[in-house]
Formats: sequence, C-alpha cells, structure tokens
Amino acid sequence: MLNILIEKTKNPKKKPDENNLGFGQYFTDHMFLMDYSTEKGWHNPRIVPYSILSFEPSIMVFHYGQAVFEGLKAYRTKDNRILLFRPEKNMERLNLSSQRLCIPEIDVNVAVNAIKALVNIDRDWVPAKEGTSLYIRPFIIATDPYLGVKPSDTYKFIIILSPVGAYYPEGINPVKIYVETKYVRAVRGGVGYAKTPGNYSASLMAQLEAKKKGYTQVLWLDGIEKKYIEEVGTMNVFFKINNEIITPPLEGTILPGITRESVIELLKRWGIKVSERRISIEEVYECNKRGLLEEAFGTGTAAVISPIGELNWNENKIKINGGNSGELSKKLYETLTGIQYGKLPDEFGWTIEVK
Ligand SMILES: *Cc1c(COP(=O)(O)O)cnc(C)c1O
Repeated sequence: MLNILIEKTKNPKKKPDENNLGFGQYFTDHMFLMDYSTEKGWHNPRIVPYSILSFEPSIMVFHYGQAVFEGLKAYRTKDNRILLFRPEKNMERLNLSSQRLCIPEIDVNVAVNAIKALVNIDRDWVPAKEGTSLYIRPFIIATDPYLGVKPSDTYKFIIILSPVGAYYPEGINPVKIYVETKYVRAVRGGVGYAKTPGNYSASLMAQLEAKKKGYTQVLWLDGIEKKYIEEVGTMNVFFKINNEIITPPLEGTILPGITRESVIELLKRWGIKVSERRISIEEVYECNKRGLLEEAFGTGTAAVISPIGELNWNENKIKINGGNSGELSKKLYETLTGIQYGKLPDEFGWTIEVK
C-alpha cells in the first residue's frame, strides 16, 4: 500500500542523557518525508537521515503560514515494547486541520504507517527512564515559491522525532493559571480548532505577560464576550463541581484534544457524570465561593493531566483544592499513563505496538 523508500544514516548520533532530555531539544537519526503536487497527489514517501532541509525564501509557508502539525508520543514498556496511543486520532485531526487550511488530506492509514515505520527505525531512541517518551511531530508545509495569497499547489509532509523528559520528575504537580481578559485566542468561524502555527504565535504575548506575573499558562475566554471558558495554552480544561465534571463543548474555537476525548470516555466508563457544556468564569468563581469547586485540571499529550491549583481572574484568586492535586486528577493521570506505558490492561484498545 505504501512503499516507503528507506535510506539509513551512516553516522548515528550519540544519544542524549535520559536524565536531562527536557522537551523538543534533541532529534533522532531519521525523518520521514512525502511530497504533494497537484499532478501526482501525495507521493515519494521516504525515510532519510535527519538533516537540514533547504527551500527558496519565497515558499508560501514562510509568508502566510499555510501549515498544520500534530503531537503524539511513543512509550517504552517495562518489557521493551514500543506503544503508540491512538495515533489514528491524531492523523484524523491532522486532516481536520488541513481541511481548514486548504491543505490536501492524507490517508489516515498511510500517515499512521509512516509514523510506525519511522519510530521503528529509531526505536532505540525511545527512552526507558520512568516518565520519558519519544515525542512525534508530524507537520505539513506549503512549498510553492510564490508570493500571491492563495493555497499552495505543492506541500511537504514531514515527521520528526524527539526524545523528551518526564513532565513531572517529582510527581504530578498543580499549576497556577492566569485567566486572560485582554487578549483572545479564537472566535467561531476562525481557526481555533485547527493545530496550525498561527494560533501559537498569536498566543505568545499573553503567555509572556502571564509568566511575568508568576503564572505558568493562560486560561482563554471566548473571543466575543470574554465570559465563557475555552482552554488553557495547549490543554483542554475540566472542572469538577458538585460531583459533575464539566468541560467546554467543541464549537470550533478549541482544539478537540485526544486526551480530552479519552478522559471523557474513562469518566463515562467509571459512571461519573460528564457534561460538555458552556461554563463561564463567573460560574467557576461563584461555585468556588460556595465551596462547590472540587477540582480543575488541564488535559493534553505533554502533561496528560495537569491539576490547576490557582486561577487568577482580574486579581480574584481562585484557590482550588487548597492548591493541591485532586483525587480524580490523580486517578485519571495514573490510568492514562498506565495504559500508555503498558502497565494497565488496555480495555479500550487505545494502544498500538510498533514492530
Ligand atoms: C494539542 C492541543 C491540545 C491537546 O490535545 P491532545 O490531543 O490532548 O494533545 C489542546 N489545546 C491546544 C490548543 C492544543 O494545541
């Protein structure tokens, strides 16, 4: 179905120290490439040594940002198997983002097989230390050397791999979040639901200002009334209020997170009430005053579950669960990472072995 040409490196790199991986600083020996042209469609899938790419300065992605990306991980189990977590979901979402950015879609099977083939070739790069993983970054860029504003006729689909450290080297830890009331991230009809670079460059300013005030990330409110909660940085957000779990609905302004979807499925399996509904920051504030806000947490591939210990909304400080990680956050974290690292039975069939 997909005949990937393989050129192995003649100069394997020295692997970095697993105790100091950080995030996204080291890259493996190989990368995957595939080209698109209007005449040939997606063609020439190949795995080649990781190296510098050269392009004309006029290519469209540099000027108008026609690009999409994904992020997922490969995990090493105790018995040295390599697992991927729901990779087909990421490749479906890549296509959803591509549609919005007028980029041609890629067959999900072709894309998942490309990931499996690449991870398999660089499987020695999947770190073994507790909590570490191999981050997988697939992305597509527009490559026509042309300065007119229109969809490109040519593209490159590229996958690179980066061994990354444990998100919580000292155990799951709550974060302080700044509720953003000046800048907005997305509006309905825009590109908020797409993983496209412009969303991230547009968020840098808010992120920087929140950091200066001592907060890790920002919580975005809706772009029109700045009333309803959207999501946090690169995480979806959940609140536990009076035994109900609430998360904002997918209405085109937030990323449809795969961790979000998995959390919802787990909670339903556990018989816990989950509501995908609009929730205002005022409701969170009022519920907290009445002692009904039990937990809040973010969900995303990087941290899996990130408990929120404090929200700052116009200098009103909302302390959650005494600033500690909640029981449900911990249970979700243990369950999801347990499945990802093959420590718990995978009842949902979420993992795929790379071999
Ligand atoms: C990637 C991302 C998420 C989380 O998605 P996962 O599939 O769970 O990793 C949430 N919000 C934004 C803005 C993102 O870019």
